[in-house]
Amino acid sequence: MGAAAAAAPLTHMSNIIDGKKIAQELREQVAKQVQKMDRKPGLAVVLVGDDPASRVYVNSKEKACKAAGFYSKKIVLPTDTSQQKLSKQIEQLNQDDQIDGILVQMPLPSHLDEREAILAIDPNKDVDCFHPLNLGELLLQKKAIPMEELLAACTPKGIIRLIQSTGVSLEGKKAVVVGRSHLVGKPVALLLLAENATVEICHSRTQDLAAQCKQADVLVAAVGVPQLITKEMVKPGAVVIDVGINRVDGQLVGDVDFEQVQPVAGHITPVPGGVGPMTIASLLENTLILAKRRSSA
Ligand code: NAD
Repeated sequence: MGAAAAAAPLTHMSNIIDGKKIAQELREQVAKQVQKMDRKPGLAVVLVGDDPASRVYVNSKEKACKAAGFYSKKIVLPTDTSQQKLSKQIEQLNQDDQIDGILVQMPLPSHLDEREAILAIDPNKDVDCFHPLNLGELLLQKKAIPMEELLAACTPKGIIRLIQSTGVSLEGKKAVVVGRSHLVGKPVALLLLAENATVEICHSRTQDLAAQCKQADVLVAAVGVPQLITKEMVKPGAVVIDVGINRVDGQLVGDVDFEQVQPVAGHITPVPGGVGPMTIASLLENTLILAKRRSSA
C-alpha cells in the first residue's frame, strides 16, 4: 500500500449498520424459498382494539407477508372482546391448516391477560416465540443454532443478525444488555450466550450503569428511555445496537444518543432504520421455519 493510501482519512467508511438493507436481503431470501414451496406459509395476526401504533405495526406486517408471497390473515377484534372470545379465536387459528404462525399483537387492552392469550397459541404456531415451551427450548439451547432454523423472538433474532453483519465475532466478547424484558432483554441475552459471549444484563436497579456499559464490546440498549446511553458509557470501537423506539417532539429517537456515540462506536444502528426493519424480516423468517416444520411433521 502506498503512503498516500495509508494516510487517507477513513471518513468515507461508515460505521452505521444498515438495518433496512440487511432486512431487505433477508426478506428476499425468504421470498425466494417461498417460491419453491408447494404451499404458501400462512401468518395470522390478531389485533384487539384500535391502538393506532398497533394498527400501523399490524398493517406493515401484513404488507411484508404479501410481498414475500405468504398467505396472510388479519383478524381485528373490538376493544371490549372477552378473554374467552379471544381464546376461541386463537383456537380456530390453531386448527386452521393454512396458518403456520399466529401473532397476537401486544399490548392487549388492559382487561385482557396477555399470558393467557400466549398460552392459548399452539406452541407449534407461536411465531413470536413467547410461549413458555418455546422460551424453555431457548433456555435449554446448548449451542448457537443457525438463524434460518432458530425459533426465537423476532427482535432478538434481528439483533444477532445485525451484530453478525459487522463481521465482529461474539466469541468470548463482553456483551452488555440494558433492559430485562421478556420481549427483548432476556431472550437477546440467551442468544448472545449461545454465541459464546460473556453476557451481563443491566436494568433499572443496576448500580453505576455507565461503568457496566463502558466494559461492553457489544452493547444492546433495550430500555425505552430516550438517549440514555451517552458517549461516556461506550467503549471505543464497541458494537452498539439501539433497540429503543421513543417519540420525542414528533420524532423517533432511540435509547442511544446517536450523534454523540457514533464517532466513538465501531459499529452502530440508527433509529429508525436499524433494529425495527429486522423485527419484521425475522417474523417472516420465523413463519417460514414453522411452515417447513409443519410440512415435514
Ligand atoms: P420494557 O419496558 O418491557 O423493558 C424496559 C427495561 O429497561 C426494563 O427491564 C427496565 O428494567 C429497564 N430500564 C428502565 N429504565 C432503566 C434505566 N434508567 N436504566 C437501566 N435500565 C432501565 O421494554 P421493551 O419491551 O424491552 O422495549 C424496550 C425499548 O425497545 C422500547 O423503546 C420499545 O419501544 C423498543 N422496542 C423496539 C422493537 C423494535 O422492533 N425496534 C421491538 C421491541 C421493543
